[in-house]
Amino acid sequence: MAEEKQKRYNPALLRLELLSQGIRIEPEFTEKFSGVLKEPLWTRTGPTSTGIDLKLEKGVYVSPPVEGDRFPYHYKNPPFSLSIDEDNRPVIKKNGKIIQRAIPFPRPSYYGKTTSQGTPMSKVGVVTGDFLAIAIDNRCWFWGYYKDEELTNYKDKQCKFCGIGLSMKRDELYRKSDEDILEVIDAAIDGGDIKHLGLNAGTFPPPGRGHEEYAELIKKIKAKHDIWIRLSIAPPREEKYIDILFDSGADQVGYDLEVYDPELFKQICPGKYEEVDDCVPHKHFNRMLEYAAKRGGPNRTYSILVTGLESKESTVAGVEHLCKMGVVPRLGIFRPIPGTHLEKHPVPTPEYLVYCYRHLRDLTMKYCVDSGCPGCGRTFVATKEYDGVNPVMPEITDEDLEMAGIDLQKVV
Ligand code: SF4
Repeated sequence: MAEEKQKRYNPALLRLELLSQGIRIEPEFTEKFSGVLKEPLWTRTGPTSTGIDLKLEKGVYVSPPVEGDRFPYHYKNPPFSLSIDEDNRPVIKKNGKIIQRAIPFPRPSYYGKTTSQGTPMSKVGVVTGDFLAIAIDNRCWFWGYYKDEELTNYKDKQCKFCGIGLSMKRDELYRKSDEDILEVIDAAIDGGDIKHLGLNAGTFPPPGRGHEEYAELIKKIKAKHDIWIRLSIAPPREEKYIDILFDSGADQVGYDLEVYDPELFKQICPGKYEEVDDCVPHKHFNRMLEYAAKRGGPNRTYSILVTGLESKESTVAGVEHLCKMGVVPRLGIFRPIPGTHLEKHPVPTPEYLVYCYRHLRDLTMKYCVDSGCPGCGRTFVATKEYDGVNPVMPEITDEDLEMAGIDLQKVV
C-alpha cells in the first residue's frame, strides 16, 4: 500500500501565526548567518522594517517581529524560533520541533555605501521583502510639522499607532533629496536587490497633500527605470491632483483609511478625521478612492486598514466596502511601536487574523479585486504563493488549523 503523504504545515497559516506571535532567533542561526543577512532596520514611518524577512515554503513572504528589546510589551516567549537543521539549513521550529524550511534574505548590496552627497544609502531607503521602500519625507502635517518644523508645533492629531514623529527624533533625514533617492534606486536595481518600489511619506500640507511633489519624483524615476511604483499618500482636496499623479506614471496609489469603524477612526486618526474627512468619517476618503479607482483602472488604487485595532467584523466590513469601490483592500497587521499612544495595545491573535484572511480571500474573489502584491504584503494579512503565480490567496483549511492547534471555534 502506498505510504500516505504527510501533510505539511500550511505556510499561509504559519505566516499569520508568526506575524501575531513573533519569532525568537536561536544562537545557532545567528552564529551561522550573521553578517551575510539583511539586518532589520528601524527606519521609515512604521515598524514594518523591524522584522526579519523570510521566505517560507511555496515562496510565501513574511517578516515577523523578533522577540527582544525593540518590543518591550509584546512578542514575549513566542512558540516559534528561527534555527538551523542538521545540514545547517535555516528552519522554523514551533515549540522546539522543526515545522518548515525558511530562506532568509541576503544583505542588500548597497547597504554600507554612501551617495555622492555623502548620505548613507540605507538611511535613504531600505529593502523590505522584494521592494525598495523609501519615505521621501519624514515629516507629517498631523504631527505639527511644516510650520517652523519643530516639535514645539506638535498638534497631537497624528494617528495613534504611528511613529513617524519618533523617527524624526532619531537620526533620520527630513526631506530626502531627489538626487539621493535616484542614486539609491540605481544602486538597488543594479545590485539586483529589488523588483519594485514603494514610496511613502508623512502627510503633506493641503490642498495637494504632496501629489505634485511625488509626481515630479516619479517622472524622474520613470525616465531612468522601467520599475513598478506604488505609493501611499493622503487624499488631496480635489480630483485634479489624482490625475497629476497617475499621469506621472504612478502604478498604484494608496489612500489609507486605517480604521473602518467611524468612532474608532475618529479616536485613532484625529487628523485624518478632522482635516481630510471634514469630521464626516470616510466621506472625503470615499470620494477620492472612488475617483482614483475609476481613473486608474483595475487594481491601481488601494487602501490599508490596520488589522487589530477594531473588531474583526468591522475590518471585514471595511474590506467589503473597499472591494465594492474596486479598491484593493490591504490589511496591514498592527505592530505596536514603542513610544506611541498605542504601544501597549494588544496585537491581533492568530484566530483573529485567520478570520480576516478567510473573509478577505472570499471577498476579493467575489468582487474580482486583487489582494495586493505578496512581497509588499510580507507583514500584511494577504499572501500568494510563488510571487503570485496563482493570483488567488491560498486556502487555509480547518485541517490546517487543527494541525496548528488553533481552535476553530475562535475563528468562525
Ligand atoms: S498620516 Fe497618520 S499614519 Fe501617516 S504619517 Fe501622519 S500620523 Fe503617521
